[in-house]
Amino acid sequence: ADGRLDGTVALVTGASSGIGEATARALAAEGAAVALVARRRDRLEQAAESIRSAGGTALAVEADITDAASAQAAVAGTVNALGGLDTLVNNAGLMLLGPFGEAPPEEWDRMLAVNVQGLLYVTQAAQPHLVSAAENGSRRVADIVNISSTAGRVAGIGNAVYSATKFGVVALTEALRKELLPQRVRVGVVEPGTVDTELTTHVRAEIQQAVARQIEGMEKLLPEDIAEAVAYIVTRDRRVAVNEMLVRAGAQT
Ligand code: NDP
Repeated sequence: ADGRLDGTVALVTGASSGIGEATARALAAEGAAVALVARRRDRLEQAAESIRSAGGTALAVEADITDAASAQAAVAGTVNALGGLDTLVNNAGLMLLGPFGEAPPEEWDRMLAVNVQGLLYVTQAAQPHLVSAAENGSRRVADIVNISSTAGRVAGIGNAVYSATKFGVVALTEALRKELLPQRVRVGVVEPGTVDTELTTHVRAEIQQAVARQIEGMEKLLPEDIAEAVAYIVTRDRRVAVNEMLVRAGAQT
């Protein structure tokens, strides 16, 4: 079957689980050769293997994007192995919640490092390759899709710093959108609501119950629901630019 992303290359950060893994699968199903970037090699290999067995092309790239050299190596390794880069999905992220006053500052450092700094390192390394794909590729357009959150639109109790990182991702998206527009690199943002993933497993034990209570009984989004939103954005004709998609769970206020 002809895929709308045939002949293109995509890099997805945080592709070892959740939304990133589902997005890698969705882009591969559209014909993109996909590089799956994260730290857990075993999970990356599993995800890549499952894409391959479905007939796709997938490369597992172990990297910690909070390390600039590691982020740059992930991009360079992808371009070397797969021949270019047309689509970047900045999805890797960390959500550590709880009252601001009690939070260990190292939690803030980790969230800022992954959600903001890591995204910056990967994006800067990818930029020249995306520009070149938009100039020389058959689609004459390239894409960056950043994964923010509803917390990037509405801040709330217990998520001050997470929200700061995700508002930051929205701001970065808008600035880069304008900056890269002349080169036909589209920059968009998806803001997911509550998705059933491993994201909440990283909060401190004493916060787990409060988080569980907040979403108790609510039907959550599936990672595939967000993957479809990303795939929609990157499969549009070059005359179209979807700048932002806020996708909440149906039962979410
Ligand atoms: P997961 O915890 O399942 O996925 C997070 C991914 O980020 C993993 O693949 C993880 O891989 C990767 N990651 C974490 N740290 C690093 C690092 N230093 N370097 C490279 N990769 C890293 O959660 P989700 O799928 O839910 O999260 C994906 C994105 O969606 C995040 O940005 C999150 O903020 C956002 N989001 C999620 C929502 C939800 O309800 N689930 C709602 C709104 C937004 P590894 O540990 O192997 O490195």
